[in-house]
Amino acid sequence: MQVARRRLFVAVDLDDALRAECAAVVDRLRANGWPGRWVATENYHLTVAFLGGVDDERVGAVQSALNDAASRLAPFEVPFDAVGAFPNARKARVAWVGPAAPVPAFTALCGAARGPLAALGFTFEPHADAHVTLARSDGRATLPTVEPPNAPPLRVDALTLYQSFAERTGARYVVLDRFALGP
Ligand code: ATP
Ligand code: MG
Repeated sequence: MQVARRRLFVAVDLDDALRAECAAVVDRLRANGWPGRWVATENYHLTVAFLGGVDDERVGAVQSALNDAASRLAPFEVPFDAVGAFPNARKARVAWVGPAAPVPAFTALCGAARGPLAALGFTFEPHADAHVTLARSDGRATLPTVEPPNAPPLRVDALTLYQSFAERTGARYVVLDRFALGP
């Protein structure tokens, strides 16, 4: 029998001001001629945990694990003071915005969310650096140097569980649940 599955991931959302400032960074990259496949502005997020395909009957356990993890965490801030590229600026495959230096509280958030999900059997890639993907490219063009967002740090006070749908025009994300940080 076929089991229904959903493509799920956990993320931190941006506020509207930061979203607009990230879109302004995209305008600057575009104006400098960098050839990106641009992520839709409404899809900007910080990935915390990518779950992949999850059986319908396991979604409830995922929700309670995240609810429990979030209740043990405290809100914190992430500065958006850098524009960068993976794997590096000269072979830019992914253009991102985020903090110039690692944010230990974000790494801790990823660990706190992934730990109980790993106990449910999910596996995760090790990296846990806060970044918003703005665009993907073929890695043949150097990322131009542009000004980072002009916005106050992002206050992280919740986790969002998303379902991702593959559409012809790109991914569409739907909020399944939200978990406030703190007791
Ligand atoms: P598309 O795949 O259509 O280009 P997308 O990557 O935004 O769009 P998803 O593939 O559903 O949509 O990914 C949702 C989130 O999970 C994104 O942040 C993506 O970078 C991340 N993600 C996707 N696949 C993996 C993976 N194998 N490992 C870690 N993170 C992933
Ligand atoms: Mg993808």
